Amino acid sequence: CGIVGYIGFEDVKEIILGGLEKLEYRGYDSAGIAIANNNVVNVIKEKGRINELRQSIDKSITGNLGIGHTRWATHGAPNHINSHPHQSSSKRFTLVHNGIIENEDELRQKYLNGTVFTSDTDTEVIVQLIEKFVNDGEEVPLAIRHTMSELKGSYALAILDNEDMNTLYAAKNKTPLLAGRGSGFNMLGSDAMAMINYTNSFYEIEDKEFLVITKDSIDIYSIYGNKVVREPYKADIDA
Ligand code: GLU
Repeated sequence: CGIVGYIGFEDVKEIILGGLEKLEYRGYDSAGIAIANNNVVNVIKEKGRINELRQSIDKSITGNLGIGHTRWATHGAPNHINSHPHQSSSKRFTLVHNGIIENEDELRQKYLNGTVFTSDTDTEVIVQLIEKFVNDGEEVPLAIRHTMSELKGSYALAILDNEDMNTLYAAKNKTPLLAGRGSGFNMLGSDAMAMINYTNSFYEIEDKEFLVITKDSIDIYSIYGNKVVREPYKADIDA
């Protein structure tokens, strides 16, 4: 399973699909992509191979912000509905997740009683919880950190907010995730190979860290919202 994200100036389709192909060795049963443009987020997902996903993406859909996912199903059958990305009820938030949420039932009962779920995944709890906390009045970064503090388990997350197409959010706990630094763009990936065609400059992300990424900046925060100071490192690997 794997995650790729991009925010910048190029069309994201091939950047993300190509990155997901580099992550194929990690194994997967389905794949999906969200492409954001002009406050519209297009979600395309398929059970099966990345090449099938590629065929089903309408060439006319373009965007400079996107997230992609390969899924290794843990909660819910490997089918179209359970494939990522998942969206909140209003469709404001779109999210991909690698990992396992252990307390999804408790979170549903505690916070999401009235929510209509559309998939059988543990992942959908995360995106619905972010929307719930935003609806309760929290700013988006706080709502994501609040959600992180409620989650028990492992996650690498990439998150889009269709009311802010200049920002890509991410979070990590006990599942691999790196940020890639470019010039006029930035990326996310489960490993460096997923981004190496575009950059060789990476930020390590530690467990329970939260990222706010624009095309020109990568800001890393603790789960409490304190800014983390960290230098990127150069990877010496061949594409
Ligand atoms: N637990 C999530 C699911 O079953 C994510 C699985 C993964 O890491 O791909 O959908």
